[in-house]
Amino acid sequence: MRIREILTACINGKRITRDEGLQLSLEADILELGEAAYEVRFQKNQQPFVTYVVDTNPNYSNICTIECSFCAFYKRKGETGAFTLSVEELITSFKHAAERGVTTVLLQGGVHPDLPFEYYLELIERTRKEVPHIVPHFFSPPEILGIAQTSGLSVEEVLQKFWYAGLRTLPGGGAEILSDRVRLKISSKKGSSNDWLMVMRIAHRIGYRTTATMMFGHFEEWEDIINHLEAIRILQDETNGFMAFIPWSFKPSNTPLEKVIPYHATPLKYLRILALARLYLDNVPHIQTSWFSEGKKIGQIGLYFGADDFGGTIFEENVHAAAQYYNKATVDECRRLIREAGFIPAQRNTLYNILSIDK
Ligand code: SF4
Repeated sequence: MRIREILTACINGKRITRDEGLQLSLEADILELGEAAYEVRFQKNQQPFVTYVVDTNPNYSNICTIECSFCAFYKRKGETGAFTLSVEELITSFKHAAERGVTTVLLQGGVHPDLPFEYYLELIERTRKEVPHIVPHFFSPPEILGIAQTSGLSVEEVLQKFWYAGLRTLPGGGAEILSDRVRLKISSKKGSSNDWLMVMRIAHRIGYRTTATMMFGHFEEWEDIINHLEAIRILQDETNGFMAFIPWSFKPSNTPLEKVIPYHATPLKYLRILALARLYLDNVPHIQTSWFSEGKKIGQIGLYFGADDFGGTIFEENVHAAAQYYNKATVDECRRLIREAGFIPAQRNTLYNILSIDK
């Protein structure tokens, strides 16, 4: 099928096939792709609002047994610079964050070898009780798998206990590329694509809402990217648990992979992926553009390539920072960036419900 026919089919609400997605990824003109994604974005979300969340992304520990080659953040237990914060320290930092207006704490660590299960449980329970204005958005699927392993519980038992403690959403980190060929090269100890999908499937069935992510710009081919989108779309058909899709690019500095891949993916690749995601993931409500990971200008341009969410304010961040990638913005600046791009900023919560709309 010719590219124009595929794009018209998307705009007319027809689901594209895997082969059509691949054809778009390889052959479509970037501006035509963006234009179609922009139109589909407005079919899904007719308001001229672009949402953002006031959030922060601290880490409870950087100790990790997985040793991903793309990661500059982790340390082995006992290594200089390794840390694990106490529950008390985390609660204190959440209280400070709440005073700054934070509504979401996206908390991740490494995959820790021996933190007791009670640590995680107490953290969720105390956050709910002592910092009620904050929604805990804690623990990506690889961490859930690690917690299941160290606690001797099943993934379902871990997620059930966390649910009863008050956790309702999970961040979609650790998906990287849902292609085992690629995962073997960048994170061979992290579990398979099916492991990530299995955690999400169980979480969604319990009632959790989650995001889905993708980290590109290393060994993946376009076919891997389309396979990733296909896996998300299939699971979403089954569970409807994904709230948003969030791609970001690999940051090489200080990572073991830097020697092999010393460069960032291009902004054009990022925009192509955003647009493809909007067209392919016809069942995922939101696509997020990231001022934080791709730069403020590209974040703004992403709003014309299918994204309707501007991500978070991210007051604290350590993972990109470990790779010497820094980007800062205040709440006011995030709102200004959205307005400058031609949209109306709307603050949302973790569940993508709108809290307020700028006048
Ligand atoms: S990306 Fe996550 S799982 Fe991989 S090494 Fe870093 S902290 Fe560990």
